[in-house]
Amino acid sequence: MNFDNDLMLFFRTIYEDSENMDECSAKVKSAVAAVADKLDIVRAELAVKMPATKLCEDGADMLMVLYDREKDVENEPFEASFPLFEGGFITVTFYSGNSNGFDNEQRNIVEIIANTVFIQFNRVIMQELVTHVIKTDIETGAATLDALINYAGMLIAQNRIEDFSIIFFNIHNFKYVNKVLNYEQGDVVLRNYTKTIYRNLSDGEIITRLGGDNFVMLVKKESLREYIDMLSFMNIRYDDGKVSKDFIFSATIGYSSTVGIRYPREVMARASIAYSAARRVGAGHVMEYSENIKQELMKIQGVLSNFMAGLMAGEFEVYYQPKVRIETKEIFGAEALVRWHRKGRISAPVEFVPFLTNDGSIIKLDYYVLEEVCKWLRKRIDMGFEPLRISVNFSRKHLEEKNMIGNIVALIDKYELDHQLIEIELTESEDYQNFELITEIVNGLRANGIVTSMDDFGTGFSSLNMIKNVDLQVIKIDKSFIPLEKDYEGKDKDLIMFYYIIKMVKKLGKETIAEGVETEQQLDYLREVGCDAVQGFVFDKPLPAAEFEKRLACGYN
Ligand code: C2E
Ligand code: MG
Ligand code: MG
Repeated sequence: MNFDNDLMLFFRTIYEDSENMDECSAKVKSAVAAVADKLDIVRAELAVKMPATKLCEDGADMLMVLYDREKDVENEPFEASFPLFEGGFITVTFYSGNSNGFDNEQRNIVEIIANTVFIQFNRVIMQELVTHVIKTDIETGAATLDALINYAGMLIAQNRIEDFSIIFFNIHNFKYVNKVLNYEQGDVVLRNYTKTIYRNLSDGEIITRLGGDNFVMLVKKESLREYIDMLSFMNIRYDDGKVSKDFIFSATIGYSSTVGIRYPREVMARASIAYSAARRVGAGHVMEYSENIKQELMKIQGVLSNFMAGLMAGEFEVYYQPKVRIETKEIFGAEALVRWHRKGRISAPVEFVPFLTNDGSIIKLDYYVLEEVCKWLRKRIDMGFEPLRISVNFSRKHLEEKNMIGNIVALIDKYELDHQLIEIELTESEDYQNFELITEIVNGLRANGIVTSMDDFGTGFSSLNMIKNVDLQVIKIDKSFIPLEKDYEGKDKDLIMFYYIIKMVKKLGKETIAEGVETEQQLDYLREVGCDAVQGFVFDKPLPAAEFEKRLACGYN
């Protein structure tokens, strides 16, 4: 059978681009007509059966005649069914005019034709579904992540993805709504919120709700800025006739261009990387995806995923930095500072503490350090040495902990140590509401004989408030407040501030210690203004326990 030309015509016709179902069916019909004679096809049908899904609320049940020569046929038709991605299937049926049906050779070709018809329809159905989804309000006919991925796949296939940018966002402080209103009313606010965005979407733009108050949008790249501005300040009104309230929402936003994207999942990956970075900076921030951010995120993930194993494998080591009285050069205590033996080198806290803090695992690390310190003190006491007070850094994450005081006391008691030997360093909090919590903790620790100090005094937002409201015993003045010996602009101010800080803190009956003292000249100055203790490189860097023990044995004289 030679009908190469007709078959060519079939493929040429069917593969012409069609934008919608009507165009598609017209093309398929004329394509089938081109081969009907040669294959003795008298009738061709296409049936679409789809269950109701989130994507297609009503489902579909449709029969379309692709070709009909209006001839009665008695034989078995050729039938092929193909599954659809959202469930359901497309069935393509061809009837032969020959009383015996199609012969083998015809069947093979009819099968290829049926496949091609399916592929074309499937593409258009998907396209239509996505268009439908774009036009659907999320709460009532939610677009799923799958829909977004499929849509992105289609845009990639059509070389149109780069016309779009991707936005991943979370509504900032939506929880507040549920505090002010009940949950049903909260849902209405969320619906109004999404509708407001949805009304602004132009052709081809899509919004997907991932769950909760997390959303992803694909928007035209020239409209990206407008959407970011809009999401950063949305005024949403709730009004049911009885209750009326306005809410102003901002959002934490990650966004990215789609340049160079070749797979649908990359679209989501970029957006979520940018979003994670924005969230790390803080709620309400906006961050653009970049290769650097991706590397940074991988670094963080490296830290977080290796942390627990590292902790159990003993990769964390406690270093001790001596605290020294200026007058006598006596070592009266030390600060415990953690180091991580990782990948053949020693990592400093800046490389992991901030990530562990964000993630909350810092709490485990702080207790590990405290326990190591207790073990070390126990060992020293058992060896007959006079023990000295060691301070341990406790992250502000502990404020969220339930039984912090009980846990600390239990650990110290486990090693049968005098509570006075442990000092807990806390940093001031940005959050004023936390004062009460910090006060409770500080008082609780004090009631148990445990010393508390305020670390990095002067670097936060509310140092004076902390001193005023919280009864801490020790104030550690941050190195940024220690005047340098060389002349520089603003040095006079630094000298005045440092002088009065020392005076004030002493007058309030607290111990002071200056951190980060590096030179003899600084030491002289500190002595002059009445600061009596320092911790700094001028005496020692943080030392491994064995070296610290040597230092304790020989001192500085
Ligand atoms: P920090 O608690 O303020 O500790 C003092 C930091 O200043 C230490 O850095 C110390 O090595 C450094 N330092 C001391 N003297 C000098 C000096 O003369 N010059 C200079 N330039 N620096 C000096 P390190 O050990 O890198 O620790 C950094 C921060 O990491 C600590 O600041 C603390 O906030 C945190 N950190 C360390 N260990 C822990 C821990 O076990 N738990 C928690 N939550 N945080 C920790
Ligand atoms: Mg400290
Ligand atoms: Mg400090």
